[in-house]
Amino acid sequence: MLTFAPIRRFPLVATLALAATSAAPHSVRHAPARLPATPIADSLRILYIGRPAGWEHYELSPSDGGMKLTSDYDWVDRGKRSHTQLTITTGKDYALKTFETVRIGDTSRTVTASVEIDGARAKVTRNGKAADVPVPDVAYAVSSYYPTAQHLALIRYWQSHGSPKTIAVVPGDPNPLTIRKRAVDTVGSGASRVVLTRYTIDGAMWGINYLWLDGEGRLAMFATGGGAGLSFKTVRAALMPLRDELMQVATRAQMAELVDITSRTKPLAEGKLALVGATLVDATGAPAVPNATVVVDNGRIVAAGPSASTPVPPGSRRIDVAGRTIIPGLWDSHAHLHQIEWIPTYFAAGVTSVRDMGSEWPLLVAMRKAIRSGTVTGPNLFFAGLIDGPGLAGFGEFSAATPEEGRAIVRRYHQLGFEMIKIYMALAPEVVAAICDEAHKLDMRCTGHVPNSMDLHEAIDAGMDQLAHFPVRGDLTTDEGKKQIAHFLAKKTIFDPTASWGEIGGKSATEPMENIQPVLQHLPRPLLQEHVSSLGQSPSDTGASHARLARMLANIKAAHDAGVPIIAGTDEGIPAYSVYRELELYVKAGFTPMDALRAATAVAAQAMRVDKDLGTIATGKRADLLVLDANPLENISNVRTVRFVMKDGRMFDSAALWTAAGFTP
Ligand SMILES: [Zn+2]
Repeated sequence: MLTFAPIRRFPLVATLALAATSAAPHSVRHAPARLPATPIADSLRILYIGRPAGWEHYELSPSDGGMKLTSDYDWVDRGKRSHTQLTITTGKDYALKTFETVRIGDTSRTVTASVEIDGARAKVTRNGKAADVPVPDVAYAVSSYYPTAQHLALIRYWQSHGSPKTIAVVPGDPNPLTIRKRAVDTVGSGASRVVLTRYTIDGAMWGINYLWLDGEGRLAMFATGGGAGLSFKTVRAALMPLRDELMQVATRAQMAELVDITSRTKPLAEGKLALVGATLVDATGAPAVPNATVVVDNGRIVAAGPSASTPVPPGSRRIDVAGRTIIPGLWDSHAHLHQIEWIPTYFAAGVTSVRDMGSEWPLLVAMRKAIRSGTVTGPNLFFAGLIDGPGLAGFGEFSAATPEEGRAIVRRYHQLGFEMIKIYMALAPEVVAAICDEAHKLDMRCTGHVPNSMDLHEAIDAGMDQLAHFPVRGDLTTDEGKKQIAHFLAKKTIFDPTASWGEIGGKSATEPMENIQPVLQHLPRPLLQEHVSSLGQSPSDTGASHARLARMLANIKAAHDAGVPIIAGTDEGIPAYSVYRELELYVKAGFTPMDALRAATAVAAQAMRVDKDLGTIATGKRADLLVLDANPLENISNVRTVRFVMKDGRMFDSAALWTAAGFTP
């Protein structure tokens, strides 16, 4: 669809990790191996952001004194099929002998990863590269998250080795896998009542994966956020009638972990506060105010201005922030909250408002409720509900084949409290028009992608108020381009260009990621190894990548100069840090640092129509602000120097938030 649209990559096999139990004592008190008395052959429905998208069939059976697991994972992502097979063989106690994943093409069969253990050594082959590595006494392998039946074998391995707190991972990764038995969940009632045991697996990728086993030791459900990717679940086919309940079970499980993570950090200050001495950049566009005072009470800004004329009220706690800079809390206007780890990560980075552009609604609704009630500390959340066309070409849970279906889904999202609709690519033109019409009647707005059935200007005329990814063809500085801009202005179209995602998606494989993001040492290792290392693999050379980005930036700048609102969004990228990069790219495009900052503050709040409360630092607004070590008007990269994060008048230490989120500050 777009020449510059980045392709979201799913590593078929991300890191292949051999795992060994960390403590020898566990190996001497092995529980007896719980090999299945009878073989299990079962089918799992693959749910991709809630949409049935394929099947996983697995078989676990005693074999050769141990067990053998085979699994076939076959699914379709927006019309594109992906098919993987897994084979694991073990000795007794589930001790690993071999592990292999194979990618099945129409006419090909490619081994993507394999492990063969021979005594204390293993031959590991990954994407064609072989290595011989040492293996501790007891070892296990995991690869990415699918086929998901591999986790059934991992759990049994863990159970039969004394359920150790952590499982060390070799080679080369000091971060262990952490497996925990968390809770018992029940679904159904009467004869259909099913009791499930919930486990969490952490460390194989960014974020926690969740697994439920039923009373017979079968895999009932597996849930993942995809490690900064997209959410997947597999659900035992026989349990699909209980699907809605299972989604709620998964949501509760994720929320329990989110509460756990965010409760680790307490505010440094709250109540009646006065931040004194910093340079104030209020993001209204007004010049910076040196030596300013910002007074906060009851979660709101009650005064902001030069310290000489802004006294600290009696009873307010004075906080000296001389030499630093205060800006409004940042926004990411293109997020996908597929896993709970986004919440603490955004917050640590100073992103105090986030617009989700398409994720599973039960988790979104639960996260927002918890944040609003104060159970969880995190950003303000706004939602655009994803709607696409029917069939396997479509994306997300809700499909509309007709205008009436489209309208009904809009009403459903409205009931759930969504502010916007996200249009996706397989929708028919008359359905898009009906969706936008229904949304406008309910005072909602529409954003998203240009459907394949329309061009950009037809989509705008059909009622799309906003567009993601800057899907503009041609050169906006030409006469033809100026006509396009005139259309955007006439329709008041707002764009979230996701330039940082475009930069990553189009980055040549040879250009170091450090050129784009000098932060890699701060990332949790699984995020770096499983996600970031798979980004930016374009076969084009660096010169061509840079030229393509420069063309996109020139068009964004032309639109901005003409008065088209530009709001900063990341479409995930490198979690939270991509917000900073987005602003750096706007300055590279020629925006002033103030205008770049406004794209992630004031203009973003206007686009969501919440600028009465958010987006700038002014009397009466909610006290969502950041204290930076350096002034971003001098260098936009100073936006990376967040020291304190304040939301609704509660001030947190950014470094402590990063630590709680699993990053190195
Ligand atoms: Zn997106």
